[in-house]
Amino acid sequence: MPVGRVVQNIGGFQTVLTEEGELITCTARGRVKHAQGEIVVGDLVSYTVGPRGAVIEAVEPRRNLLPRPLVANVDQAVLVFALHDPEPSLLLIDRFLVGLQAAELAVLLCFNKMDLARPKEARELARYYQSLGFRVVLTSALTHEGKKKLLSHLYGRCSVFCGPSGVGKSALINMVRPGADLPTGEISPKLRRGRHTTRAARLIPLGRGGFVVDTPGYTQVDLEGLDRAALLRAFPEIAARSEDCRYRGCAHLAEPGCAVKEAVAQGLIPAARYDHYARFAAEIAAERPWSRS
Ligand code: GDP
Ligand code: ZN
Repeated sequence: MPVGRVVQNIGGFQTVLTEEGELITCTARGRVKHAQGEIVVGDLVSYTVGPRGAVIEAVEPRRNLLPRPLVANVDQAVLVFALHDPEPSLLLIDRFLVGLQAAELAVLLCFNKMDLARPKEARELARYYQSLGFRVVLTSALTHEGKKKLLSHLYGRCSVFCGPSGVGKSALINMVRPGADLPTGEISPKLRRGRHTTRAARLIPLGRGGFVVDTPGYTQVDLEGLDRAALLRAFPEIAARSEDCRYRGCAHLAEPGCAVKEAVAQGLIPAARYDHYARFAAEIAAERPWSRS
């Protein structure tokens, strides 16, 4: 059975991008909806083509499901911050890094509005996060600087742009959007009439494979319910030193013989990063005590 990816879902009709690169309009078999619930943009589906059109017969199990916009099987978050206007906050960047990695999204850090920044400062900020183990790109949605580099990280993956408002997420989505837009598909008369025709997210297929979600994702993050493993994923340089702590399950806060605090004292881990880690740890611990690792 042929397979494809749902790129749009409006009024009970799904637009599916086939393996041949064609867009077809499908409806879902009733039993599919019964067994798996509503079909969501991003779903990988198997379909058949009969005299009455294309019909979705099965949905692959989802790797993940983003709540807002509702999209399945997202591979990475492009975390956007502006280099200037608004000024980037390192604390807020780290907070997003924690939240996105807790949502099991790989992160690409994108510093936008390069045209407004001093090149040296931009490069220093990029190098800082690169040295901590993150992928970083510098862009300007205005001049299109960094567009190729950004695209090279988007090809072959499904990406959602995240970050605070005003940093240029929408401008960047427009920058990477290829000329041809998706067809608007068939909208049921009932939907057309309604006043609240909020359109669900769509996937924009990229020229060389991969997709971009056309609506920004997380614009803020909530650390509620997080566990220590998730916190440490956003602090790879801290996680890497945990092995050498005197106590297994060291939280790197007040314990003696902590290799992390030793590394901070020696300047091997930036003090600001450790400070952010300790703040988030305290915030999480206020909700629930550390679990043993
Ligand atoms: P969003 O809230 O993150 O989606 O941000 P927008 O894409 O709406 O952009 C916010 C404002 O910043 C708009 O006025 C954009 O024109 C402007 N903007 C976005 N990207 C750039 C950029 O790279 N350089 C400059 N100078 N302005 C930008
Ligand atoms: Zn420790």
